[in-house]
Amino acid sequence: MSIAIVWFRHDLRLADNAALHRACSEHAGVVPLYVHAPQEEGDWSPGAASRWWLHHALQALDGALQQHHGSLHIREGESLQVLLDVVKESGADAVYWNRLYEPAAIARDMHIKAALRERGVAVHSFGSALWQEPWQLATQEGQPYRVFTPFWRKLRTLIDEAEPLPVPSSLHVAPVKRGLKLANLGLLPTIPWDKGMQEAWTPGEQGAHAMLELFADDAVGDYAAARDVPARHGTSRLSPHLHFGEITPRQIHHELAALLRTRSAKHRPDIEPYLRELGWREFAHHLLYHFPKTPTENFNPRFAGFPWACDDDAQLRRWQQGRTGIPLVDAGMRELWHTGWMHNRVRMIVASFLTKNLRLHWHHGARWFWDTLVDADLANNTLGWQWVAGCGADAAPYFRIFNPVSQAQKFDPKAIYLRRWLPELAASSDALVHEPWKDATLLKRSGYPLPMVDLGESRHAALAAYQVARG
Ligand SMILES: Cc1cc2nc3c(=O)[nH]c(=O)nc-3n(C[C@H](O)[C@H](O)[C@H](O)COP(=O)(O)OP(=O)(O)OC[C@H]3O[C@@H](n4cnc5c(N)ncnc54)[C@H](O)[C@@H]3O)c2cc1C
Repeated sequence: MSIAIVWFRHDLRLADNAALHRACSEHAGVVPLYVHAPQEEGDWSPGAASRWWLHHALQALDGALQQHHGSLHIREGESLQVLLDVVKESGADAVYWNRLYEPAAIARDMHIKAALRERGVAVHSFGSALWQEPWQLATQEGQPYRVFTPFWRKLRTLIDEAEPLPVPSSLHVAPVKRGLKLANLGLLPTIPWDKGMQEAWTPGEQGAHAMLELFADDAVGDYAAARDVPARHGTSRLSPHLHFGEITPRQIHHELAALLRTRSAKHRPDIEPYLRELGWREFAHHLLYHFPKTPTENFNPRFAGFPWACDDDAQLRRWQQGRTGIPLVDAGMRELWHTGWMHNRVRMIVASFLTKNLRLHWHHGARWFWDTLVDADLANNTLGWQWVAGCGADAAPYFRIFNPVSQAQKFDPKAIYLRRWLPELAASSDALVHEPWKDATLLKRSGYPLPMVDLGESRHAALAAYQVARG
């Protein structure tokens, strides 16, 4: 009987999984394998929140495989060596995987592909995480896109409602000697700080589809307006599920398109604004693939000489802990710490505060997000930070500086989001929750800090620094 290994990475699902599907159709049995090798992810091995998610996602995948009378085979070590060992132990003659787009993963996979083929093991890789592979889209001049709108215009024409692949009907898990227990990977925190994440999330393929259903029933029709309101559950919250490959853009599109067909024209929600956001995810991967140095280097070389403020650990810690004295910034940073996620508008605001009002380098923010986000994703995080800092592709101009007070007054006028995350201010009037420094007694009673910078002065200082950098 012919056996193949399916090497699971960021594709922790059974449905719409191109590698798994093909392996099952071409072989009598498969070994579903996960190799824990964080050292192979270069400077970007998973942060603490991602490790938490990964543990639960692997557990869910194992549960799904058990329904097919198998289990997930877990190993630890150097991926190539593990693959060679499992080839030998199982008698497999082929390895299947879905592609990744992070620079370290690309280099490793190319090396592994060549090494396996040299030893007579067939290798098949697939695109399964994106609508289009990053090299499939190019400008008329044959160059990578650097601007989102033409990228999206092109990509949108290529998206169809094709049926996603089902869970393979011929999924037979081949026996192989016992692997590691998931608990032995040590992915969960030793001090239990994950209560908020447990309450907020259900990692795994089923959890992803439940989240999509909730969004489709409840929010997709109002997405264009509700996506900016942090107090509402107005976005899909699929980002960690997408990052770990528990659901694909194709499945999301297919399910939303099916929903449209059930509604009369009058009640049909407009899903285009939502698809466009998924387009940003594709754009981020396109950029990371074509410009692999951007996780650490400014996309725009004109920022090379930008006068960032000197590193200041105390300031950075206040931002990280949600103790800046600016309510919307603090609410966002506490939401992040508690749930591993932060609303997109608030991400932009806390990032603008760090890089413009405090003028600390965007690297500090990107690193903190990397460790604390359950959806930490090298492509999306790099794009997000460079966009806000003004040095990215198609970025917000540096001189556009968010005012976190007027943003809160506009998008959280009744201070619902602020009260949720700043309980020490909750009993005050809406106006004071937005500007607590206007009442010295409130600050004294609540222990909420004075703003660590003057928003107006720091804004002027940032603009002056920008003029210097422009020369
Ligand atoms: C400073 C900063 C850092 C960020 N870091 C990350 C990150 O590490 N991982 C991450 O997935 N997103 C990141 N984002 C993008 C965005 O904030 C999140 O994708 C979004 O908030 C996730 O919530 P959602 O799933 O409800 O999004 P929805 O509004 O429901 O959007 C659906 C999906 O589209 C994609 N998407 C939406 N907006 C963006 C965007 N601006 N860029 C790229 N993809 C997008 C995501 O995959 C998201 O799940 C960052 C944004 C900023 C400003």
